[in-house]
Amino acid sequence: MSRHQCPVCEYVYDEKAGEPREGFPPGTSWQDVPDDWCCPDCGVREKVDFEEVSE
Ligand SMILES: [Zn+2]
Repeated sequence: MSRHQCPVCEYVYDEKAGEPREGFPPGTSWQDVPDDWCCPDCGVREKVDFEEVSE
């Protein structure tokens, strides 16, 4: 399980938690998130801009 953070805001996509409000149930891997998905918090950055968070 990995986590990816938006470079603009503090939003973090956590595979363990998913993002149910965006239609990704808990356990949805980062790979399965569409490339054109935008950050749900700031809406200005897309998936490709996110950075992996090292634990
Ligand atoms: Zn953001």
